[in-house]
Amino acid sequence: ARAAEAPAEAPAPAAARPVPAVLGADLKVPVKGGRLVSYANLDYAASAPCLEPVSAAVAAALPAYSSVHRGAGYASQLTTARYEQARHTVGAFAGARPGDAVIFTRNTTDATNLLARSLPEGTTAVVFDTEHHASLLPWPRSVRLAPPAFPGEAVRAADETLAAIDGPKLLVVTAASNVTGELWPIAALAHIAHRHGARILVDAAQLVPHRRLNLTALDLDYVAFSGHKLYAPFGAGVLIGRRDWLAEAEPYLKGGGAVRSVAGGVEWHDDPEPRHEAGTPNVLGAIALAAACDALSATGWTPLVREEERLIARLRAGLASIEGVRELSLWGDDHPRVGIVSFTVVGRPAREVAEVLSGEYGIGVRDGKFCAHPFVRHLVGTENGHPDGGCADGAASAVRASIGIGTTQEHVDRLIEALRDLTAR
Ligand code: PLP
Repeated sequence: ARAAEAPAEAPAPAAARPVPAVLGADLKVPVKGGRLVSYANLDYAASAPCLEPVSAAVAAALPAYSSVHRGAGYASQLTTARYEQARHTVGAFAGARPGDAVIFTRNTTDATNLLARSLPEGTTAVVFDTEHHASLLPWPRSVRLAPPAFPGEAVRAADETLAAIDGPKLLVVTAASNVTGELWPIAALAHIAHRHGARILVDAAQLVPHRRLNLTALDLDYVAFSGHKLYAPFGAGVLIGRRDWLAEAEPYLKGGGAVRSVAGGVEWHDDPEPRHEAGTPNVLGAIALAAACDALSATGWTPLVREEERLIARLRAGLASIEGVRELSLWGDDHPRVGIVSFTVVGRPAREVAEVLSGEYGIGVRDGKFCAHPFVRHLVGTENGHPDGGCADGAASAVRASIGIGTTQEHVDRLIEALRDLTAR
């Protein structure tokens, strides 16, 4: 299969390079009174800024490109080699097994929908109400589980539910919550799924920017993630996993590239990569995603995780010190999490808080329900004792601050000081 071919021209990442810089680190934004202040981007969980090596890889590909898998011309050959190298790099970054399919998609949502359309007839998806809508909604047939009170409860609920389902089944679970940042027990859930003859899809959109993912070691069947949350620009994501369901499914899109021959009848490719990537693919997006994977692997996770844990601990301690600010959490203060924190401010709609942070302090955060409506409703409505999240319309909402490469201590401190000011008004 062409997925396995890795052209010689691509450089192997060197070991332990310094942490790369992000673009836009010197961005200045206007605040109230017309002043310009440096932008404190605390919205990485929505889309992370582009890394410099990613921008360089895209710039290097721009002077000579052409559509892949078609032409004999130099530009087409080179672009094909770069595209297939990107596939190889992204698969290796996720710890894919040698035979796994690595299919480029537009994003995580596209990847979960591709798998949803590739399920064997009658498959039941089992999914927690804590999921992002991308993993909650695509399934033709699903059983929804209530937010578990503790990690072991998640495993027990999956165990009992999967045991009661006949026929093909798929457990769908996030690796790191986009609302609380909390890490889910995906290895234990994979084990349970397999014990019941089910497969597991892990939504790794919020894990891969923060922690190493190893699909093989965790024994996961499928993973999905997006480039734009992983320090690459928009437009490319990936579905990685077992080939058989994907090889047998209807092509996701029908058109050139997916088809082997059209002569009376139509013969689709058996390999999942061409079968589900009809049309001219987003080659630059794939190159960018792979360059981000290379940059993170070359830096190594230890310095990244160490700095993130230092900053997130500071942020959480700051939030805890402000009266009226409550962090949202499913499994308590001590449960491990990535650099994502959501909170409510008593008596203040989340939108108002986010607007003040932006308009007066130059801080970018997200507010709302983060495409995880059932989960945010659960957290805001019960655990934090704010039945309406401070919103006049009664809709539960929260503010989310999320960090990554390029976040500084000054950004974190500015947020805490701004919230202190705001709550004292
Ligand atoms: N899954 C999780 C956990 C997410 O946080 C997101 C994005 O916020 C998605 C899926 C969907 O990602 P995309 O919008 O790139 O498809």
